[in-house]
Amino acid sequence: MIDCNLEDNNCIEKLKEALNEFDEIIKELPKDNILYNQSEILKAISDPLRLKILYLLKNGELCACHIDCALDKPQSTISHHLNILKRSNLLNWRKEGKWTYFSLSNPKLIEQIENMTKTQKGEISLENNSICCESEEIIGGKKEKEKEEGCGCGCGSFVRPDQSKIDNPQNPKKEIENDTLKKLEKKSKKFGIKSIGYAKIPENILNENHDLQYSNAIVITSPIGMDIIDEIPGEKAQELNNKLYEKFGNISYELSDYLRSVGFATQVAHPEGELIDLSRLGQVAGLGDIGKNGLLITPELGPRLKVSAILTSIKNLPILKKNNHKWIKNYCEVCGKCIKGCPENALIENDNNLTKADIIDEKCIGCSQGCTYCIESCPFFEKGYDWVKEKINKMKIE
Ligand code: SF4
Ligand code: SF4
Repeated sequence: MIDCNLEDNNCIEKLKEALNEFDEIIKELPKDNILYNQSEILKAISDPLRLKILYLLKNGELCACHIDCALDKPQSTISHHLNILKRSNLLNWRKEGKWTYFSLSNPKLIEQIENMTKTQKGEISLENNSICCESEEIIGGKKEKEKEEGCGCGCGSFVRPDQSKIDNPQNPKKEIENDTLKKLEKKSKKFGIKSIGYAKIPENILNENHDLQYSNAIVITSPIGMDIIDEIPGEKAQELNNKLYEKFGNISYELSDYLRSVGFATQVAHPEGELIDLSRLGQVAGLGDIGKNGLLITPELGPRLKVSAILTSIKNLPILKKNNHKWIKNYCEVCGKCIKGCPENALIENDNNLTKADIIDEKCIGCSQGCTYCIESCPFFEKGYDWVKEKINKMKIE
């Protein structure tokens, strides 16, 4: 411990000595990306239902349907939580016919969780923190395979460790030149990004337990392919959706790496990640507005899109002051087709706010089965942004 007794004449010398030792401790701190991965794994296990799933698997492999039955929860809820554990590389899985079997990727996981949380006073203790943080050690080489399945929609509940290849610079730059920003926009277009916007992130769109490192964001959108839209909800739709998330996530990391390579610090808010409400961030960036179905609607893609963001140390982004798409809500007020189009009754009209439906997460199968019916039923998808705009203008005149 550093003794800071200012009365002591030797104080400065002692302090210097102690700081030298402290310097060594600082040098031994793990890198930011390792700490980030550790915190993401801890978040994945910090849910009683997910802990119950891990305990059920303590004695060996189980089929998903047995887990559903044992916990007496809807299949979509269990599937959602299994996906979170899979994404954090805590579970192995395999398919046999139409059944999926799960097991712990680290057989000692439960023992390690118990050790980590065991104290005499019942407090959480990190003393015996033996949970492995390097995902490779936990997953036993299954990473690539596990990435192929998971959540189908943008419900934003997944833990996503940073997969940027380049480390953040020690002293990141804060001002970006126009040319560099143009290069970034050009690169984005090459990757198939449909729109790009800039925003200061408001506190009220951050998800719980967020770990926000920068408050400015570059927001990008990518189309949901027609192959996904045309597929009926189920395993295949979910698989296609997951591949899109993977691809879009990788594009986000590539753009983040580009910014890091030219001296800026970044943090990727993965399109499937839990950091921020990305649809609302797209709205704040002026890319579009939120429809009654809770999705971001843009001129380029209607609601047929995924959103991702690169948070950055850049302070002089060209942030728009005005959102030109606020009229979208006026149309939603009289439309409501997404509510009728939802096969699960997961969207409910909100009598106090006709521009925004209540979304019943437990009923929604967007997450677990790649459902896109609330996109397909939306006139912004069917007829396009300009058609709807013309329609609402005519309605105003009449
Ligand atoms: S249509 Fe209903 S169930 Fe399907 S993704 Fe939309 S809200 Fe969820
Ligand atoms: S279907 Fe209608 S109400 Fe729903 S988001 Fe689209 S325009 Fe709005």
